[in-house]
Amino acid sequence: MKDRYDVVIVGGAVIGSAVAYFLTANPDFNGSVLVIERDPTYLRASTSLSSSSIRNQFSNAVNVRIGQFGTAFIRNFAETMQVGDDRPDLGFHEGGYLFLARTPEQVRTLRENHVVQRECGADVVLWNRDELAEAFPHLRTDDIQLASYGRSGEGWFNNTGLMYGFKAKARELGAEYVTDEAIAMERDGNRVTSATLKSGNRIGAGTVVNASGPRAALTARMAGLDIPVEPRKRTIFVFDCARSPEGSARVNRGRLPMMIDPTGVFCRPEGRFFLTGCPPVEDPAADWDDFEPRYEEFEEIIWPALAERSKAFEAIKLVNQWAGHYDFNVLDHNLVVGRHPEVTNFVFANGFSGHGLQQGPAAGRGVSELIIYNEFRTLDLGEVGYERVVANRPFLEKAVI
Ligand SMILES: Cc1cc2nc3c(=O)[nH]c(=O)nc-3n(C[C@H](O)[C@H](O)[C@H](O)COP(=O)(O)OP(=O)(O)OC[C@H]3O[C@@H](n4cnc5c(N)ncnc54)[C@H](O)[C@@H]3O)c2cc1C
Repeated sequence: MKDRYDVVIVGGAVIGSAVAYFLTANPDFNGSVLVIERDPTYLRASTSLSSSSIRNQFSNAVNVRIGQFGTAFIRNFAETMQVGDDRPDLGFHEGGYLFLARTPEQVRTLRENHVVQRECGADVVLWNRDELAEAFPHLRTDDIQLASYGRSGEGWFNNTGLMYGFKAKARELGAEYVTDEAIAMERDGNRVTSATLKSGNRIGAGTVVNASGPRAALTARMAGLDIPVEPRKRTIFVFDCARSPEGSARVNRGRLPMMIDPTGVFCRPEGRFFLTGCPPVEDPAADWDDFEPRYEEFEEIIWPALAERSKAFEAIKLVNQWAGHYDFNVLDHNLVVGRHPEVTNFVFANGFSGHGLQQGPAAGRGVSELIIYNEFRTLDLGEVGYERVVANRPFLEKAVI
């Protein structure tokens, strides 16, 4: 390891590795990159504990476009990320998202979001109750006023595959990874000059990138900066279904997409099982080491909602569960990608709030452009920069799951 790198990235999961890849893959960049990762098993990284889905159905155009780039990138991932004979196929199931609206407010939101999504060219349709029943005959639809369905460009894929693919390719292209923990940073006026590691090493840095996931605020604080991101616990459940709703549907129709019920409960196929979760009733900041699932959510919230939605879900059996931490942006549930306006060699890539896996490709590319060209060249991420944090001006995303 050298004692100075042009770019030092704190956190080496999906976001840190995407930044490392897009930097090293760009012929206009000839600098050095070090990625510092405290836990190379990634057991508690949000990336590993994610529900691994991607969508275009957001309320803000920039998030729709970020999703569209993510989809295109994931479709071509094996080819782009090939290292030697290893082609990391992410097993992308383009099963779509299905948002269901019951109340007038939910209907209004779906319609407003639909206009934004169509303007961006997303392949989404709005269905009335009859159209929904025709497409998914096994769902109870009598209480549904409107549905929004992504016909292509949305689905689920291998989460750690995305991270390891970026990592392997970035290493092949010259990025270095070190197992260590950043514990302090040194500044000279408005520049961060180095990071001190738990091992005692001090590494000089031209630019520092904060890719620390739910720990983003701790890393920012090392440089004397703030970011309104905190860990929020989310529990995922996997269940078996005696009489699969897909089996009861007519041939080639009714395969369940990622369904977001009006209650907020979401559910999608996961191999021969189903994966599900719900928004928490209370949502305090989680303790760093608290990964205990909220078991009661399954019986009290999820199962009743699913059994109401489909008869097939009346008889289901839990087979697995886990809890992970959202990297939750308490200002507006949206990513923060950009330089600090004063300490300009400190770049944030944080606060993805439950959609950072799918946003990894666009965030990685955006950060690399900021570092190489000092501007966004492909997709303008200016709206989700750090300036809004300073101004305390939320850029709210309404379609949060
Ligand atoms: C239950 C759950 C479901 C989700 N579902 C989805 C989904 O369906 N689709 C989607 O797009 N997103 C989803 N997300 C969100 C997504 O997983 C995250 O937004 C994304 O993985 C964030 O990636 P990251 O690299 O920033 O953070 P992480 O994956 O948490 O990685 C941060 C890394 O930084 C390291 N680190 C932290 N501090 C230091 C330090 N000081 N020194 C060295 N290393 C450090 C950590 O060890 C860690 O490996 C979900 C998240 C959860 C928890």
